[in-house]
This record gives sequence, structure tokens and C-alpha cells, in this order.
Amino acid sequence: MGKPLSVIVIGSGFGGSVSASRLTEAGFAVTLLERGPWRDTVPVREAGIKERRPLPRNGGMLSVLRSLNLPFGPKKGLTLNKNGFLELFVTPGVKVVCTSNVGGGSHIWAAVIEDSPAGFWDHRAQGLSDAEMREHYRLTRAELVASYPEDSASIPNAVDHAWQGKSFFTGIEAEEKPQMGFLFPSGGGDGTHRDKNGIVRAEIDYQQPNGMFGSPSGAKSTVDALYLLPAIKQGLIIKDRHQVSDFLRMQNGAYRVNARDLKSGRNVSFEADIVILAAGTMNTLRLLMASQDKGQLRTMPALGRGFGVNGDCIGDWRVDDTPARDSCPGTPAHGRIMIKGHEEGMYLLLVGGEPPPVPGFMAETVRKKTGTTYQVVAMARDNAQGFVSYDGGRLNIDYEFASDPVYQAVFDAYRSLERQSGWKLKFDERAVLTAHPMGGARICDDPQQGVINGFGEVHDNPGLYVADASVFPQPLGLPPSLSIAAWASRVSAHIIKTAGPM
Ligand SMILES: Cc1cc2nc3c(=O)[nH]c(=O)nc-3n(C[C@H](O)[C@H](O)[C@H](O)COP(=O)(O)OP(=O)(O)OC[C@H]3O[C@@H](n4cnc5c(N)ncnc54)[C@H](O)[C@@H]3O)c2cc1C
Repeated sequence: MGKPLSVIVIGSGFGGSVSASRLTEAGFAVTLLERGPWRDTVPVREAGIKERRPLPRNGGMLSVLRSLNLPFGPKKGLTLNKNGFLELFVTPGVKVVCTSNVGGGSHIWAAVIEDSPAGFWDHRAQGLSDAEMREHYRLTRAELVASYPEDSASIPNAVDHAWQGKSFFTGIEAEEKPQMGFLFPSGGGDGTHRDKNGIVRAEIDYQQPNGMFGSPSGAKSTVDALYLLPAIKQGLIIKDRHQVSDFLRMQNGAYRVNARDLKSGRNVSFEADIVILAAGTMNTLRLLMASQDKGQLRTMPALGRGFGVNGDCIGDWRVDDTPARDSCPGTPAHGRIMIKGHEEGMYLLLVGGEPPPVPGFMAETVRKKTGTTYQVVAMARDNAQGFVSYDGGRLNIDYEFASDPVYQAVFDAYRSLERQSGWKLKFDERAVLTAHPMGGARICDDPQQGVINGFGEVHDNPGLYVADASVFPQPLGLPPSLSIAAWASRVSAHIIKTAGPM
């Protein structure tokens, strides 16, 4: 048996963690580079990871913002706190939010788990189809511990109970209810679980927030706990707080990846036979563009094209019901809703208020205010006609979303809910805030139309793979993380098949 091929994975969200875990298990020598820190959660602490940084839930407001990318000022963006949680991209029409952690966006997600729409993977590229993807969805859904209690009556705010009799919502069929990545109470034991890998997690406490500022108890499925901690035992090397700047293909066909060690402040480089980019759509595009700009990769003519925002739109719904409601307890997303008369063409979630991490003496006041507001979060299949370009470090997004009929339908539905309920619903028609940027390095066999082939490899740059939503040929119009995990599972399976240790 020869020396195992070496792999560098960049980013440790859904795409990066699944890839790193699969390839380590198959015997590759894998190093994962992640700019964010390990977060202080029960599973990470119990696994003996020493250097941890608090989640915003425990770290306060100053730990929230990591970096800001603005249309003016420094082109490479402003880093406010290198251990911070959130990164924002602000452009005139589109704002994007993403995170920075070992475990990526799985610390912020509401853990709503959905398949892709039928036909999503068909006719995109050779060898790729819904049928080919099915097994990867099945595996990753189980690994993310997707479930939902058959009877949700005990879950505060669960939509199928809490809104019965309200005529402005159309009922959702049982099979349309989304599964979620939480440890739901099982009714036995002390509420603490140790899984087959020895990972310790607590069952969800519905009175404690587990949403956008993290889940300190580990009740929410996060990929650091579910994939990375077990993979470390099998030999995975994780370099946390290492920020990659660019990479190049060397004459021998291997790659050199340049990064900054944020702990020591030194520049470092790593070499590997294979590189998997999974830095999340915005940062994957930035790294591809930076490396292409420096002449370090073969040109990718379609890079930046076909960018979409998953039809994301957030409405703040100020509910003034009798008796008064409190939107905070329960799972972070209370379930899927349909607004009467607007059942087609969009996917809507009712999301609970989550008080920001403020000092104790302000907590009750803030909670009272947040508790009266629910967010109506829309997703839809926008036309993805956006274009992302790169200018010496800055990403520009050129996207005229408001004229897209998909958005007009979402705005109409919001106005209708406001009318039907009589409660104010506020949303922004001029600028979209998305948590689900997609595309820009799309899958397509024609290098003039797409950047990636049907197995995740970048055209004309052998050994360079992409395992995040930047490859999506179209927006999903649904929560995307399961699809990212399933895609990473497929990309890894291909690498194992074609280059795996004998
Ligand atoms: C409030 C909120 C709620 C959400 N809820 C849901 C939900 O319920 N269901 C769902 O399916 N999705 C949800 N999402 C979306 C989900 O978080 C993303 O789809 C998912 O995290 C994307 O996975 P990824 O692996 O592509 O990238 P990410 O999870 O973003 O991971 C990328 C990682 O790469 C790292 N990185 C970036 N640049 C570099 C660099 N230069 N060097 C080294 N590392 C780098 C980042 O720090 C990050 O940790 C939500 C998002 C938000 C903001």
C-alpha cells in the first residue's frame, strides 16, 4: 500500500465537515483549515478540546460580529474581532450573513432539514441525477439526527397546535412538516445522551434559546460535534483559526494553500494532492477569484455567474393576540406555514423571537419586546441572474432581484397575511438579506456556462473540488444545509472511488 493521498479541506461547515470526515475515514491524510475558533459547547468541552471561545449566547454582544465587507473602505473588509461569530457582506441591493466557527453555520442554523425539490439534480451534468444523490441524502439526514416528534403538542409554539383555528393559515399535511436536527426529549434518563462516538449532548430545553446565537448544551445538531470530533480520533488534523488567502496549482500537479495563522499572526502554507473548497458560497467565490486573479489557477470563464439568494425574505410580524403570545420558547423555527390564498411558489417558516445576548439587567426588557414578534421567513426559487465580481479583495454583487416575479409573489403573500391577521408585518422591498447565497461556481459540463463538473471538480483544474452551495445550478427555494451535506458526501464518494487508498 502506497502513501495515502493528502487532502486539504477549507472551511468546516456542512460541506467541509462531511468531506473531511468521509475522506479521513477512507484513509486519506486530511488537514482541515478553518478561520473560526472551536466554540464552547458541552460536546466540544467533553471531548477535551482545550482552546474554545464562547458562543454569543454566553459571550455577550462583543462576540457577535467578526467581520464586515462594505461597498467602500478597505477592499479586504474589516475584521472587528477574529473570534467573532458573524460575517456580513453589504452591497447596495443584497446583504449576506454567514458565520465563522469550527462547525460553520451549524451553530447559527435553526436546524430545519429539507430535501431538494424533485428534479433538482437531474440534467445538470454527466453522472449526476436525483437518483444518484438519493443515498447521500439518506445518509446525511440520519447523521444530522433529523427527526420530529409525532405529537408536537408539548412543544411550545409548534405551528400545528399553536395556530389552530386561525383562518389566515392553510394547514400543512403531516408529511410536509420539516424534520429538525435536535435531540428531542425521550422521556427517560437525565436528559443527557452519549452517542456511539462518545459525543455528549443534552436534550432540548424548550425554554432555552438554541437558534441564531448557538446551542451551548449541544441539543442542536452541529457538524463539529457530529462529524469532526469523531474524525479527529481517526486522524483528521484541524487547524482552527487559520484563514486561507489563496492557493495555487504547482508544476507537479499538487496544490499549495496560503493562509494566516490567526493565533500567531504568521503566514503559513500547506501542500496537498487534493483541495476541497467549502468556505461557504461567498468565501469560496472570493478564494477562487483571488487565486484566479493572481494567475494561480486556469481561468474559469463562468465564475461569478448564476448567483442567487434562494428567494430569501424576512418579515417581522408583530402579533398582538389575546391572550398574549410569547414567540421565544420552543424550537427556533416553530414550523412550516402556508398563508391562505398564497400556497404555491414559496416555502415559509414561522421563526421565534430570540433575545440577543445582552447583560442580565436588560434581558427581561429585551425578551418582552422580542417575544411579541415572530419572523415569517420566506424562501423561493429566484431567477439567479446575479453576478459576483472581484476587485482586489472586494466582492461585488450585481443583482436586480426586486423585479423577479418570485419576489413579487412573496411580497403579496406578506401583505395578505398582514391584512388577514390585522397585525403589522414589516419587510424590506428594496434590499434583500440572505442567509442562503447560492451559485457563482455552478455545476455544468460546459466550462463556458459552469465552473464545476458533475463530481464537484473545477474544470481544467484537476484535484480542486468545491463542496458548498456555490455549485448549486439553481436556487433550491428551501433550507439548503442538508443538500450541501449530501453534495459533499457525493464529492467525497467520487474522490474515494477514483483516488482512494487501495
Ligand atoms: C440565522 C440562520 C438560520 C439558518 N437556519 C437554517 C436551517 O434551519 N436550515 C438550513 O438548512 N440552513 C439554515 N441556515 C443556513 C446554513 O447556515 C448554511 O446553509 C450552511 O451553514 C452553509 O454551509 P457551508 O458548509 O456551505 O458553509 P458554512 O457553514 O458557512 O461554513 C463555511 C466555513 O468556512 C470558513 N471560512 C470561510 N472563509 C475561510 C477562509 N478564507 N479560510 C478558512 N476558513 C474559512 C467559515 O469560517 C465557516 O466556518 C441558516 C443560516 C442562518 C444565518
